Amino acid sequence: MKKQTSCCDDFDPNSLSFEQALQRIQESIQPIKGKKNVTIREAAGHILADDVTSPLDVPPFINSAMDGYAIHSSDIPQSGDKTLTIIGKSFAGAPFDGKVNAGETVRIMTGAVVPEGTDTVVMQEHAEVDGNQIKIGGEHKAKQNVRNPGDDFFSGDTIIKAGERLSPAKLGLLASVGVTEFKVVRKPVVAFFSTGDELKGVGQPLAPGDIYDSNRYILFGMLEKMGVDCIDMGVVADIKEEIEETLQEAANIADLVITSGGASVGEADFIKIILDEIGEVGFWKIAMKPGKPLAFGHINNTVFFGLPGNPVSAMATFYQFVQPSLKLLEGELIEEPIRLIAKCTNKIKKRPGRKDFQRGIMSNDENGQLIVNTTGIQGSHMLSSMAKANCFIVLDRDAGDIEVGEMVEVQAFNELI
Ligand code: AMP
Ligand code: MG
Repeated sequence: MKKQTSCCDDFDPNSLSFEQALQRIQESIQPIKGKKNVTIREAAGHILADDVTSPLDVPPFINSAMDGYAIHSSDIPQSGDKTLTIIGKSFAGAPFDGKVNAGETVRIMTGAVVPEGTDTVVMQEHAEVDGNQIKIGGEHKAKQNVRNPGDDFFSGDTIIKAGERLSPAKLGLLASVGVTEFKVVRKPVVAFFSTGDELKGVGQPLAPGDIYDSNRYILFGMLEKMGVDCIDMGVVADIKEEIEETLQEAANIADLVITSGGASVGEADFIKIILDEIGEVGFWKIAMKPGKPLAFGHINNTVFFGLPGNPVSAMATFYQFVQPSLKLLEGELIEEPIRLIAKCTNKIKKRPGRKDFQRGIMSNDENGQLIVNTTGIQGSHMLSSMAKANCFIVLDRDAGDIEVGEMVEVQAFNELI
């Protein structure tokens, strides 16, 4: 009898390692070319297209870091106290207009210009006020409590580089130097559809053997969170010609196409065959759990991912592979996800052979130690386990069972899940 290939063999010699798969993806995705002008209000979450240099020193002038009194450092007494005369005020946005001489001081507020003739600010809590005079002690340091021009950066410095994603902090940085219009990379267009004769859209009645299509709602949510332009192409039945036609149409309009289901080797699984015919298969099988099989390739210039049908597998593979691919398409500089080490509070059964991304719940124990336990049974059809989790417990390909108390690697979910 001919032995059939199975997508579930733990030792499939044709499977790529997780790391090799990521490497292939990185090597084969070219950033999209389009740029567009945006204003600062439209820019959140976009990738900056060109470096931005500052037209200003920031801070632009010497200013106070405290509410208090501006003095010259030579007026700090060597011993005992010293009395200084208040000759005016410097408020944020309303500088003191004049020069301060020895023995004089100016009342100053946070952010106000440190007046000419002064270089030091005494906190108001450290000054004894009596009418138009203050008394200060000798505990002060020259040039304390002032912020100097260019403390943060100087005019001409690159403050944000092309390829960086514009977070609120970065938008604030741009605003702080008065830059309000710039170029960003246009958002990738992503088309997606589900495949499967058994799938019904929500709101439709279920016939015997039918299930609701959850993957399209998952994908929609994840894509929305990534801020890309997404096109939902619905559910396509397990009919080769129909899948092929929809795939071709999707590839014509999108930078990246995602399907779910039908990527395996069952009799109703056509994704890999079609990709072979109309595009190029980059890889197909990965030694990863959940997630095998996952088809990756190109259809003309469009990147293609055929995700597994099981919803947990679809989510895990989207998270690990589609997410970085979309970033690569936008030209973002990819960083390795931060991995944490946590103490595992339950036993995990695992056979060597595939890298495992178990769904976990991490927290701090009473001593502040990071601990993690699995969400329970790890079936890749069980979305409730994904919904409960806040991290992946990442177990290496060669790892075996994990005992209670063993240290394991965890990857905290970002806002996508
Ligand atoms: P497949 O990869 O097509 O063999 O599907 C694997 C499993 O995932 C089957 O139990 C399918 O019914 C299920 N499945 C496939 N697509 C979806 C979907 N869009 N939503 C929920 N379950 C799905
Ligand atoms: Mg199917």
